[in-house]
Amino acid sequence: MMKRRDLFKTALSATAGLASFSVLKPLYAADDFVFRGPDVPNVPVTKIADRTFYFLAVDPEPAPSNFGFFSNPGFVVTSEGVVVVDTGGSVQIGEMLIRQIKTVTNKPVVAIFNTHIHGDHWLGNHAFVDAYPNVKIYAHPKVMEHVKNGAGAVWNGFMSRNTNDANAGTVITPPTLEVQGGDVIKVGDVDFKVHYMGKVHSDSDIAIEAVQEKVMFVGDMAMRRVANMADGNFANSIVAMENFEAMSHIKYFVPGHGEFDDVSMIRDQKQFFEIIYKTIEQYYDDGLSDFEIRPKITETEFMQKVAKDWPGFDSTIGRFVSEAYQEFEASLF
Ligand SMILES: [Zn+2]
Repeated sequence: MMKRRDLFKTALSATAGLASFSVLKPLYAADDFVFRGPDVPNVPVTKIADRTFYFLAVDPEPAPSNFGFFSNPGFVVTSEGVVVVDTGGSVQIGEMLIRQIKTVTNKPVVAIFNTHIHGDHWLGNHAFVDAYPNVKIYAHPKVMEHVKNGAGAVWNGFMSRNTNDANAGTVITPPTLEVQGGDVIKVGDVDFKVHYMGKVHSDSDIAIEAVQEKVMFVGDMAMRRVANMADGNFANSIVAMENFEAMSHIKYFVPGHGEFDDVSMIRDQKQFFEIIYKTIEQYYDDGLSDFEIRPKITETEFMQKVAKDWPGFDSTIGRFVSEAYQEFEASLF
């Protein structure tokens, strides 16, 4: 006889493209069994500023051992309620965040910002809508557009494959309210200013500035990690880092992955992108291919002394170089 889990997987593959696990329920019929991933162990809350906190994801990648918790959600406690920035990649992660936010304040969650389309930053919305049906969920319109085209199902599948189905039961719950760069959303005594800089890490990135807190949530635009630039743009990332660097009133930058820091994190990320892109520019005319340019990049002092220790460096730097090479080549035409 087939085990439950195999049955579940069969049902899932037979209905590929369906938007959520809940719609599969009738396929098991008869009993009330709903396959659901386990609860996520509590992750400690870290204080950044007076009213601003985040959850540091220690692991750089999703795995069964971390239940898919590998990106950093954050929150700000305003006089009117809690504003959350990114909600993790599953309903179980979202539920854990709600439990932990309640250890800091008994105020309800009233608003959420999702920093971009990658599902590890928003699939936890499900838990918040369950707990706070009136919560407002903001994102750049590109996020809604991508979800309409199936990105939510792709990311739910990614989370499932990498966590042994720890996210099972997660229903795709996209943001509903559009924000643009320059928008300011006032929640109680805190203003949230939205920054959009075009295609940086994806085409849907927004940074959220908690103005009175002098804290900027940068999503995945900056981090001390070598993770994923498949949807991004190197040249624009350099410009984005220059923009952030010029915001001298910001005290702390909170990345989507890795620890928060002052502007030094932005400078490190800028240098990282600059070395990759400018080295390619320098050697392209000599007819060097991407794999010939790669050692000229990895042997630089910055890469050896700083970036080499970032998670993902050895496994991903080659992909970054070839993606940047293609971007540079495309920019010539
Ligand atoms: Zn991302």
